[in-house]
Amino acid sequence: MKIHEYQAKAILSRYGISVPAGIACFSVEEAILAAEKLGGNKWAVKAQIYAGGRGKGGGVKLAKSIAEVRQFAEAMLFAPLITHQTGPQGQIVRRLYVERGVDINHEYYLALVVDRAAQCVSLIASNAGGVDIEEVAASTPEKIQRFQIDPLKGLNLQDAERIVSGINLPESCQSAAVAMLASLYKAFDENDASLLEINPLVVTSDNHLIALDAKMNFDDNALFRHPEIVALRDPDEEDPLEVEAARHKLSYIPLDGDIACLVNGAGLAMATMDIIKLYGGNPANFLDVGGGATVEKVTEAFKLMLENVNLQAILVNIFGGIMRCDVIAEGVVLAAREVKLTVPLIIRLEGTNVELGKKILADSGLAIIAADNMADAARKAVDAAARHRAEPVNNGGV
Ligand code: GDP
Ligand code: MN
Repeated sequence: MKIHEYQAKAILSRYGISVPAGIACFSVEEAILAAEKLGGNKWAVKAQIYAGGRGKGGGVKLAKSIAEVRQFAEAMLFAPLITHQTGPQGQIVRRLYVERGVDINHEYYLALVVDRAAQCVSLIASNAGGVDIEEVAASTPEKIQRFQIDPLKGLNLQDAERIVSGINLPESCQSAAVAMLASLYKAFDENDASLLEINPLVVTSDNHLIALDAKMNFDDNALFRHPEIVALRDPDEEDPLEVEAARHKLSYIPLDGDIACLVNGAGLAMATMDIIKLYGGNPANFLDVGGGATVEKVTEAFKLMLENVNLQAILVNIFGGIMRCDVIAEGVVLAAREVKLTVPLIIRLEGTNVELGKKILADSGLAIIAADNMADAARKAVDAAARHRAEPVNNGGV
């Protein structure tokens, strides 16, 4: 799960990390009031969307007057912001963050990430922070340092000192930086974050160390113990189909193909997408209904898949292990009757009680295309999708 910059800064601030004073706003009027309340003579007006790269896309502006705050807020609010992470359609800006402007001496980069390969949390640090960090990583990777943190011992003082001197922070900021690293690690650890990125971490013209930007992502599997983080969820920033899927405890990721797949088990779901590709088709989604798929879950899964306007066929690929094929078949028949299917439905069943399952499908009266194995299923799905695409009326619906 992701949160907005201003929410991440509020969390960090509770851990004693210095961030600029700021106020989140939902209208131009609120932005102006916020700037007046914050005082000073310059303000950063920052679009709050989950995607990064806002600076380069025009979503971070430095205002030198209240009139400019108004001008930038008017331009950003309710308009799409296009960054290299939003896709060409951009993301509508519905919230702004107005901060007291900061005079920057130097921009650094700091991040904590769950490093799957190293099986620990890694700290990434660089002297070359700022909006071009991706470019730095690509062309001069030696400017980016990685440190692995022992999960049992945590971040120790010596490591923190080594990291701080490694990125050449000025002497006068070093002890503050060591303390900040300890606090960042604590914030990361206690909140079950999967990413905590400060880019840029800045040294100001008066030699203060400030987290000028903050990005925090959290481990979805640990959210059950952080209701206060779940409460920050902004549905406007999330794919509505993914939100709906999560509500029904389905693992669903929409993709840009046209053959939907309903599968039990993540590994089988991946293999199903692969084999659709192998036979020249394109999967419309990843969907794992899990081991204990009930009729309700299967019905919800069908509804989600049918939301896709590009849909040309649905491939159900179920391996009945603990779950019996006859139970799955009954679920699929009930679900297919409840939702109005408008595309061909291809089903491959294997495992416990498979013959009974196939009989239930055959006796259902539904125009189901039965498949004998995965290759057969993929081939039939690709063919049926092509026929449906060419002639939707005669080749769809069961
Ligand atoms: P991002 O592009 O989405 O990562 O947004 P950031 O919050 O990192 O802002 C992008 C850039 O804007 C930063 O790297 C800074 O150079 C600049 N910036 C942001 N806030 C201020 C500020 O208060 N003062 C100055 N001088 N620059 C700022
Ligand atoms: Mn940034």
